[in-house]
Amino acid sequence: MSSKHEPVSARHYLITGRVQGVGYRPFVYRLAHRFRLHGWVRNVTGSVEIHAEGSENNLTRFSEALIREAPAISLPVLTNIVDVEPVPHGGFTVLASMLGEANIHVPPDYFVCEDCLREMNDPGNRRYHYPFINCTQCGPRYTLIESLPYDRPNTSMKVFAMCPACSQEYANPLDRRFHAEPVACPVCGPQLFFSNPDEPLIADNEAALAATIRFLKEGHAVAIKGIGGYHLMCDANNDEAIARLRMRKPRPFKPLAVMFPADGKALLECVECDATQLDFLQSPQRPILLLHKKSGGTISHQIAPGLNEIGCLLPYSPKHVLLLEKFGGPLVATSGNLNGEPVITANEEAQTRLENIADAFLHHNRPIVRPADDAVYRIIAGKPRPLRLGRGIAPVELELPGELPEPVLAFGAHTKNAIALAWGNRVVISPHVGDLSSLKSMETLAHVADDLQNLYQVRATRLLLDRHPGYGYRRYARESGLPLSEIWHHPAHASAMAWEFADIKNWIVFAWDGVGLGEDSELWGGETFTGAPGRWQRAATLRPFRLPGGEQAGREPWRSAAALLWETGYPAPFAPELLHAAWLKGINSPVTHAAGRLFDAAASLTGICTHASFEGEAPMKLEAVAMHDGKADTLVLPLAQKSSGLWQSDWSPLLPMLTDQTLSTIHRAACFHSSLAHALLDQARRLREQNGFNHIGLTGGVFQNRLLTETAKFLLEQNDFQVHIPGQIPVNDAGICLGQVMEFLYADNTP
Ligand SMILES: [Zn+2]
Ligand SMILES: [Zn+2]
Repeated sequence: MSSKHEPVSARHYLITGRVQGVGYRPFVYRLAHRFRLHGWVRNVTGSVEIHAEGSENNLTRFSEALIREAPAISLPVLTNIVDVEPVPHGGFTVLASMLGEANIHVPPDYFVCEDCLREMNDPGNRRYHYPFINCTQCGPRYTLIESLPYDRPNTSMKVFAMCPACSQEYANPLDRRFHAEPVACPVCGPQLFFSNPDEPLIADNEAALAATIRFLKEGHAVAIKGIGGYHLMCDANNDEAIARLRMRKPRPFKPLAVMFPADGKALLECVECDATQLDFLQSPQRPILLLHKKSGGTISHQIAPGLNEIGCLLPYSPKHVLLLEKFGGPLVATSGNLNGEPVITANEEAQTRLENIADAFLHHNRPIVRPADDAVYRIIAGKPRPLRLGRGIAPVELELPGELPEPVLAFGAHTKNAIALAWGNRVVISPHVGDLSSLKSMETLAHVADDLQNLYQVRATRLLLDRHPGYGYRRYARESGLPLSEIWHHPAHASAMAWEFADIKNWIVFAWDGVGLGEDSELWGGETFTGAPGRWQRAATLRPFRLPGGEQAGREPWRSAAALLWETGYPAPFAPELLHAAWLKGINSPVTHAAGRLFDAAASLTGICTHASFEGEAPMKLEAVAMHDGKADTLVLPLAQKSSGLWQSDWSPLLPMLTDQTLSTIHRAACFHSSLAHALLDQARRLREQNGFNHIGLTGGVFQNRLLTETAKFLLEQNDFQVHIPGQIPVNDAGICLGQVMEFLYADNTP
């Protein structure tokens, strides 16, 4: 307490934002000691309350330090300070948590901090080589919190009774593990165990890791339990090991992520990585970042066949640090799931469902409360852009530009599904759920929907759905009995993009993707909108064509190629005659405008990819080939206005070029990209002439294509447009859930 001669003031603080699970209370405790204040601090669901008494001067310095010196992983907001009557307190105490009104913030899972790493590598420390070391500043959160407030009995750590040494650290306000809820040590905490069909279970941390290394060195695939789910791992320099894993999964060509040892040496040998990119890889989120392969690197060509980039990540938990260090080279780290399904989190499920893929298992006994696959980013136009949200990033908590009339759950799209819970002016986006075609995905979606509502203590009273009647969640939505609002797919894309740039009042937005249902029952996907959320106007599109086989065309790019040829009166000798006959009659041949299907057609006509083994294979390979051309030729795609006022770009001049065998594949792929970027520019200029709008948004899965996006941005900026590309939410269908919330928010404001 301040000296007897100074008058004592008292203040009450309410701190909101991300202040739970991030060591905020211990931090407040230490500050109070430093400024000789009495009083208390406590968690009230979602926020922190402080009562502090001392000299005026010290209280002022305390108030400033509460924000300025806050722990690195916290995001405190000083919401309220009031002067109160001083009541004598004997010192400063941390009070038990109180349940209160739901204003909850859930911290993500963070990589092990410097202090913990140092202890883990210190042979004299009691946590030497302990794979689950953590403190208030690091470790898992989102994947182990069962309910809030964030206290140990509400986490999956409740099954581990603390030993005396851990209890002491946990209870000591001056210790850096004071109230570190997942605190653990080799005596009392989670343990690794290794199992394979031919040997007895190995239940010792060091021995289990050693056995895993032995298996990996021998070229085997091991299913390894991490923070948010299992990985399938094998030696990334061993062609045979990778070929075997690919055959078993089965995953013939889809690129595999690679985890590199933490020192970064092997990483820099294999890929181009500048200081900023390395910083991003080393951030506590530890995402996967796509980086350009170096020629002459030792990494297997089987990692990402036909592509120039590799998805790279650094170890994201203490266990992975030890694993990679002992292995001494890069490891394939692909999601432990069956194709398209969500990542597996439970030991028994991994053991049974992955038994035909993995030769052995490295389990641990800390339950994973909710799945979180790795987050994936790609550098586009100079910045990392998310392709998939997940561990380290999730849950994504965002603020809306207005208040919702009621709590809603937005179910997003069918492929790359992610869902959003939104209430008041808040929205929380789930990690990647996956493709809703499988039963398992639908189970996960139902679980995530329920779980988000429990965690944030908010019950949705309405569901937001895509207009497409065939999306996997339709039945679940009907059975919920809740009122449904249906949102168009491409306006949702545009609104998700616009969320990030809330100051802009009028837009020209290019929403280019595979296919989504449009307002005229055609399959849209090459649409350009003007306006803003809640009042988008379709202003331009791409020439429509009929797609033989409809949805099947997504995995069979040759169908899109045939469609473009037939549409313009050319033969398509590679397509069955029966299909042509059906197409002529319009049987199972819906009309589409989708830019994504043009990329498929181009990949097929150039011979780069006629059948896709995974979604996006054809455009990814087309882009990879086109990247080899320094300066591409451009064909003019005529832009004309229809009687409805809609502008339409005609892709037909591309066909003679794409089918011209005398031109190199590289040249054709590059010319295709350049021509589409110029067509986009032409549309933008026309629309600016018409309405004076100058802000351009680029969204939809097609803009995951770096070459197209960067070329378009360059051309637009040369023509004095302001170009905006999302950096927080994926442009692909994972962003649809946010767009649905935005469209719902603004629905009543339609002029
Ligand atoms: Zn730590
Ligand atoms: Zn212990």
